[in-house]
Amino acid sequence: MKKMNEIRVSIVPCSADPIIYDDSRCIGCNICTQMCQCDVLLPNTEKGQPPIVAWPGECYYCGACVLQCPVEGAIRLEHPLMNRTKFVEAIPAPSDVE
Ligand code: SF4
Ligand code: SF4
Repeated sequence: MKKMNEIRVSIVPCSADPIIYDDSRCIGCNICTQMCQCDVLLPNTEKGQPPIVAWPGECYYCGACVLQCPVEGAIRLEHPLMNRTKFVEAIPAPSDVE
């Protein structure tokens, strides 16, 4: 049998919490980990459990992990507060009003 290499990582602290898993829905298929171009997510060592968000600060909120998840509601993106901007229509200047 081929010997597996052991990789040890620590979760890098970050003020953002970009990926939220629902433990009751996630089936641990790891498709989301394969989709991430930034390797933010790592497979859980416990089979069937949600992946580990190892490098949350590297997430650029592309949403690929969420889009490819086969289970609705198993994973969701949590955008940082500063990215939740809502644009409103500009109030016309008094000179623009007829
Ligand atoms: S949103 Fe994009 S960058 Fe962030 S964890 Fe998902 S796939 Fe990776
Ligand atoms: S969140 Fe979705 S894609 Fe990721 S391991 Fe769970 S079920 Fe699979």
